[in-house]
Amino acid sequence: MTVQTESAPAPVTVSAPSLGQGLLAALDGPYHSERQRVRREVKASDVVRDPTQSIPQARDWTLERLVNLAHKGFGRAGAPADLGGMGTLAHSVVHFEMLCAGDLSLAIKSGVQHGLYGGAIWNLGTSWHHDTFLGPALRVETPGCFGMTEFGHGSDVSNLETTITYDDRSDEYVVHSPTPTAAKTYIGNAAEHARIAVVFGQLIVGPRLHGIHAALVPVRDEAGQALPGVTIGDNGHKGGLLGVDNGTLAFDRVRIPRRMLLDKYGGVDDSGVYRSPIENPNRRFFTMLGTLVRGRVCIGGGSMIALRKGLTIATKYAEHRRQFPAPGHPDGVVLLDYLAHQRKLLPAIATAYAYGFAQNRLTGLLAEAGGQEGADERAQRKLETFAAGMKAMSTRYANDQLQVCREACGGAGYMTENGLTTLRQDADVFATFEGDNTVLLQLVAKQLLSDYRESWVGLDPVKLVQASAKMIGGNVIERTAARPVIDRLVATAQRQSMDESVLHRGWHVWMLEDRERHVVSRLAQRLQRAMKASGRESFATFNRAQDHMLYAARVHMERVILESFIAGIEECIDPDTRRVLNLLCDLYALSVLETDRGWFLERNRMSSARSKAITQTINRLCGDLRPLASDLVTGLGIPEEWLGSAMLHAEGAGPTPEG
Ligand SMILES: Cc1cc2nc3c(=O)[nH]c(=O)nc-3n(C[C@H](O)[C@H](O)[C@H](O)COP(=O)(O)OP(=O)(O)OC[C@H]3O[C@@H](n4cnc5c(N)ncnc54)[C@H](O)[C@@H]3O)c2cc1C
Repeated sequence: MTVQTESAPAPVTVSAPSLGQGLLAALDGPYHSERQRVRREVKASDVVRDPTQSIPQARDWTLERLVNLAHKGFGRAGAPADLGGMGTLAHSVVHFEMLCAGDLSLAIKSGVQHGLYGGAIWNLGTSWHHDTFLGPALRVETPGCFGMTEFGHGSDVSNLETTITYDDRSDEYVVHSPTPTAAKTYIGNAAEHARIAVVFGQLIVGPRLHGIHAALVPVRDEAGQALPGVTIGDNGHKGGLLGVDNGTLAFDRVRIPRRMLLDKYGGVDDSGVYRSPIENPNRRFFTMLGTLVRGRVCIGGGSMIALRKGLTIATKYAEHRRQFPAPGHPDGVVLLDYLAHQRKLLPAIATAYAYGFAQNRLTGLLAEAGGQEGADERAQRKLETFAAGMKAMSTRYANDQLQVCREACGGAGYMTENGLTTLRQDADVFATFEGDNTVLLQLVAKQLLSDYRESWVGLDPVKLVQASAKMIGGNVIERTAARPVIDRLVATAQRQSMDESVLHRGWHVWMLEDRERHVVSRLAQRLQRAMKASGRESFATFNRAQDHMLYAARVHMERVILESFIAGIEECIDPDTRRVLNLLCDLYALSVLETDRGWFLERNRMSSARSKAITQTINRLCGDLRPLASDLVTGLGIPEEWLGSAMLHAEGAGPTPEG
């Protein structure tokens, strides 16, 4: 079988001995061989944690496994080999995702050490920082942390209170927490292990404030004791991620040499003058944060891997668990033969595939644009918007559905030894860190508005209507993947009558595009005046439209994800795999339409007959996919030994005749 993808120009040929393996190769996409390498080389004992460990045991286990994996080369991707790196930027995302299939504490600890701490050195530092700090960071010889959040400011990073003040007499920076709310909190690795912190704060040089910059600040000595002027606290027991030592950091006029500032985007030069390659402080701030986008890509992807694991456990359980006898089933009906149970799991599996294809595409974009010197600004913006949207959508969906997976296993699902409760608790906070979801969706909406504004700003009302019409003609919506195929599908759908099949792919795309055009153009018109106004009026108008903004971001992402799924199917040429992917894509698209059918009905975009037909078709698709459930979860790619679910090994938990 041959699987081709957009970001991997050369076809990847893999053998597909079964449908499950074909689905796995298709969903792994361009990263199939690397994912397979991890599945082969990393043992379950390297990555699956005993969920009953105490906090001290969990923290020790997580650090030890992190060090072992780094020695084997995992977690070190994304930096040049001469600086200790092993693998590409895309591999760094893939490795993080694979760790999420094992244990989320371990994945997050790795994300903090390699992605946040190492990533900040790599992206915000210069060659001296790279040569001095990156190797020990990647090899976990120097555990580090990423100190951005403060008690007073989490989402609002630009107003952090920590100060980094240049002292020209000693040629040093002084790092200080001027108020109790300036103390850093929730910082991963801070409570026990970090030796050095990347500390974000306001840079002050003489009388001038230059905005947020980051400095490397040693926080512990070799013996693990806090250094003078540094106060370290422990956040203690959390709602999950017990293997990660989150803590607080406060600084009392801590002095660091001038070169410890990560000064790629600005710092004091040898003559004591502040210089930056980016004049505009606002642009500088967003450029600096933009270089850290990999974290968001990882968190979104990782949360969906956690969901894939939950779905795999719940589906395998549902294939052998029986409840209530029925005619022809004297021993009880297998759970997965109940429509209600299929409805719980199969649309979620379809959605996991949809998000998986979109995530592969995002990883490809990151590899192309992310972190490259002089990368095209528009491409970078597109990447950041896509990453923000995927992170918010994936973590929301994973959280909701992990709860469904838990309930789908009844009381057994609530037992820690069966894996689902820990997974659900650990994945929970993915909605909050690396950018709170609500804040991220607003970022997506603002980018949609700014794309839209390029077409209509400064236009009089007549031209505005024309611009909207142009948008409705398809000029503004930028299709993200498989453009010619999708154009063709939509064109065919537009020629069809409303009575034609709800299974027409072009109709699915058309409906999602139409909804997006409508929602974004209405939002833009609503906010047109606010964009010109300033201060209180502008804030109030935006605030009144916040729900509309969040909705615009969501409908945009649902369309983009569908198109990524279609692109993924286009790249798969194995007919059996393709047929099943098409069924899954139908199920995903119709589930999206069904969830939001109120919107389509209210705006006469859909008749009530069609709305009913959608529900019937989803039920039918669930029935069609049910016999393939085992292959579908094989395709989700979680190694059997990594599932960590005792109930799957209980007596009678093997495959059933129905399964
Ligand atoms: C386990 C854990 C690990 C973490 N690790 C790190 C780390 O290693 N390093 C680090 O620097 N940080 C870390 N964080 C911090 C994390 O990034 C922040 O918690 C996150 O950015 C949110 O900030 P906050 O907690 O202050 O929430 P807030 O920003 O106060 O948000 C609270 C609520 O207000 C809403 N809200 C905020 N602003 C708006 C708005 N404009 N419009 C509408 N609603 C809004 C949000 O949606 C949210 O529901 C970690 C946090 C946790 C819990």
